[in-house]
Amino acid sequence: MTRANKNVIQLKGLVKRYGLGASEHNALDGVDLEVRNGEFIAIMGPSGCGKTTLLNMLAMLDVADEGDYYLDDQEVERLSSAQRAHIRSRQIGIVFQNFNLIERLTVIENVALPLTYHHVARLKRLEAASEALKSFQLSEREYYMPWQLSGGQMQRVAIARALVNKPSLILADEPTGNLDSRSSHVIMEELSELHKRGNTIIMVTHNPNLTSYASRVIEMLDGKIALDKKLQSDRVVKKPKTEPRKARRSKASTKKRSRGKKKEKDNA
Ligand code: ADP
Ligand code: MG
Repeated sequence: MTRANKNVIQLKGLVKRYGLGASEHNALDGVDLEVRNGEFIAIMGPSGCGKTTLLNMLAMLDVADEGDYYLDDQEVERLSSAQRAHIRSRQIGIVFQNFNLIERLTVIENVALPLTYHHVARLKRLEAASEALKSFQLSEREYYMPWQLSGGQMQRVAIARALVNKPSLILADEPTGNLDSRSSHVIMEELSELHKRGNTIIMVTHNPNLTSYASRVIEMLDGKIALDKKLQSDRVVKKPKTEPRKARRSKASTKKRSRGKKKEKDNA
């Protein structure tokens, strides 16, 4: 089996219940799912259908009541909570709708935070954080406080933080839910770039326009997968309609364009 064919995630009959007695309710009601290495999955569905519950399960932040979860062929049920935390901190990057930055820490300290759990020395942590911020064109904001940033910048800092450990699996719960359309597309371009570099991405979104970045779209309803549609082959990501058509450009115009893109990112 090649790397691209490998299942990163396999769920079999996953059930998660909330409430007791008459109020008992299956937030997940028998979810079967296989995710291959390098897929970019967009999960859609009405509020309350179980999308966040599913991501929490995948992140091993919560455990299922029934069913099996294999992550990289390991049965999650059999792992201790310490082993789960270890795997999560090494392999999984999580991005939330409300950014979850720590207000009293600078941008660079926020991004360096996950490395403290890995016993990396402070200077090395800051170097790695600085490197991660550089790839998001946020170098000039390293010593800003979170409240000094726009929503789009905060989310890019949060993504940089999720990536500082170089995880292979990225889970994002409505990452653009609090952003305007332009900042949303900047974030989606970043995720798309990570996908092209071979990461596996599972993203919940309410916005059907953003599914064009994904290689596969899943629709949930009442705790079940109602629709599962492959859009395109992995890592051949279609550009969204707003992007200019790809044409042969002279070196000079390419340069201009990438500079323009950088500016757009800075302002987002
Ligand atoms: P979505 O993210 O699709 O909006 P959720 O996964 O958050 O949906 O929720 C699915 C269902 O589970 C909802 O009915 C919600 O009320 C319920 N639920 C989620 N988390 C809890 C919880 N901690 N305690 C009780 N019920 C919950
Ligand atoms: Mg949710």
